[in-house]
Amino acid sequence: MGNHGAPPSPSGPPFVTQLLWLVPFGLIVIILISMLTPGISPTTRAVPYSEIKALIREGRVSEATLQATAIIVILGTKSGGDVERVRAITPQQPDPTLLPLLEEMGVAITAQAPSEQSILLYFLPWILIMGLYFWLIRRTSGGVSDLPGGIGDFLSGRSSKPTKPVRKITFADVAGQDEAKNEVSELVEFLRDPERFQKVGATVPHGVLLMGPPGTGKTLLARALAGEADVPFFSTSGSEFIEVFVGVGAGRVRKMFEEARKQAPSIIFIDELDSIGRTRGTGLGGGNDEREQTLNQILAELDGFAAREAVVVLAATNRPDVLDPALLRPGRFDRHVTLSLPDKVARRAILDVHVKGLPLRRDVDLDEVAAGTPGFSGADLKNLLNEAAITAARRSASDITSADLDEARDKVMMGTVRTLAIQPEEKHRLAVHEAGHTAAAFYNPGADPLYKVTIIPRGRSLGSTHTLPENDRHTLPEGYLRVQLTTYLAGRVAEKLLLGSVSSGADDDIRRATAVARSMVARWGMDPGIGPVDLRESEDHPFLGQQIAQPRSFADETAARVDLAVMGLLHHAEEQATQLIENHLAQVEQLVAKLETEETLDAEAIKACLDPDNKVMPFVKKRKKV
Ligand code: ATP
Repeated sequence: MGNHGAPPSPSGPPFVTQLLWLVPFGLIVIILISMLTPGISPTTRAVPYSEIKALIREGRVSEATLQATAIIVILGTKSGGDVERVRAITPQQPDPTLLPLLEEMGVAITAQAPSEQSILLYFLPWILIMGLYFWLIRRTSGGVSDLPGGIGDFLSGRSSKPTKPVRKITFADVAGQDEAKNEVSELVEFLRDPERFQKVGATVPHGVLLMGPPGTGKTLLARALAGEADVPFFSTSGSEFIEVFVGVGAGRVRKMFEEARKQAPSIIFIDELDSIGRTRGTGLGGGNDEREQTLNQILAELDGFAAREAVVVLAATNRPDVLDPALLRPGRFDRHVTLSLPDKVARRAILDVHVKGLPLRRDVDLDEVAAGTPGFSGADLKNLLNEAAITAARRSASDITSADLDEARDKVMMGTVRTLAIQPEEKHRLAVHEAGHTAAAFYNPGADPLYKVTIIPRGRSLGSTHTLPENDRHTLPEGYLRVQLTTYLAGRVAEKLLLGSVSSGADDDIRRATAVARSMVARWGMDPGIGPVDLRESEDHPFLGQQIAQPRSFADETAARVDLAVMGLLHHAEEQATQLIENHLAQVEQLVAKLETEETLDAEAIKACLDPDNKVMPFVKKRKKV
């Protein structure tokens, strides 16, 4: 996340240099293994104690060395060529028969006391390991040396040096997000001329939290602020602070803030703040210690800013809901800037930024592209143009056409075309299913205009019907939602009516329809029997579109009533879909046949099947292809 298009940090040490630091580790492991197995040379064979005694009794032993916990014997004579050394651990209780037996058999006995040297050797690896550990902590805890390629850099992955973009990024590169730009633009003045503010005793916010869905330009805005103010930009990501060694992340935070202060006025940018900034005390396992220490260090650094210090800390997240409240307190990340998904006008502006330098054919209408991409983020739009350029290059064309953009849009929205061996019978069912959705959207006043229908598998779907809203929707009227329910369920209804049976193909339709119906009843008060009561059991994530479960705060009977109301809405929608399709059975069958042969139909081809006599018009608005 967050680094799309960002140049790599020039300060990271080369990989090979990093690997060199593994050498001392390897040596220590080897020493450790050899030290922990004293007295064993490659030619020493380990045997049970009873076997050694048997060898002595058989007269095969010439020499014996008695150690504190082991006995090593030499079989045969030293002069007799090959000598075999055999070793056994002695019993914990001293064996009173051993010495008499050795003496009786005339074995030369040597007693070996644990020498000072061997004690030192035993502890040496541990001393080395502990020493290395503390050295690492000291190195990474900041301030010591900042040589690239140092072990601190190996662990940190980068040193605390400002990153420099290849090209200066300014607010002009951030299209659409006018409110967010306004909010941070006052910081530009402060960073450019901090003394002006310091003279009059003004306190400028130090911590700014950029919130918004992925790809809306949070990182870009932070870089643009640095570009506008022309100050050093220290960039990092929350996940980079989480290390194996507890304390390393905190050390790195300290080092980064220290460096930023030295180079003030400057900007620190922490992407994915949520990966370290989660509410403390909720995680499991040892890694949590490291995260909490890092978070505490960030809090301490923020608190430690002198009121007029010219360092601004920007942090980005798309999970503000999980952030530790301590981070949001006054004096810390107390300025909140929200970046939202762009509307049609903003999408057009973003496209304008990214088409610079792209060879677009004259027929490409960027307003149409903007209209056809609701829900796309800035990053998605950039990706769309790139995919279109790739499609054009594959055709060996010299310019990008609207067909390339059309293909790219489908790819970004639904994934790449899949080659699946679909049997004719299954293909027929797919066509019937999609024709059902299409017919329900076509004949229903109030549905979004149809854009196209396809039974070519893409991404995870086998077929799909696309509608496109005329304009971005900010609220969802009840009538519109009911039409949506009918459209969702119409695929299954068409299967039932035309094929006499249903299939698992409606899985996603039923899931979506149920989710909409539940929201209508439990959140938006659209069931007259239940009324305007908040009965939700989960919360929409503000930026990620996920559901976050909430504890139920109402009676079981109420929950049962909600369930009944949801079922009522869905059954009603199913009846509506049945009526619509039954009333136009011949046209729907025509659409099925056409879809089976053509596989993809645009708005005009759909209309030719479903409304050959031009009777259904006002409901269908002709759209140009994207
Ligand atoms: P994430 O939450 O995934 O970290 P982000 O919000 O930080 O995402 P960026 O990394 O800033 O998003 O955006 C990715 C790329 O998308 C940018 O480098 C830029 O090229 C493009 N982009 C996003 N928003 C805009 C915008 N408003 N104007 C122009 N380009 C944009």
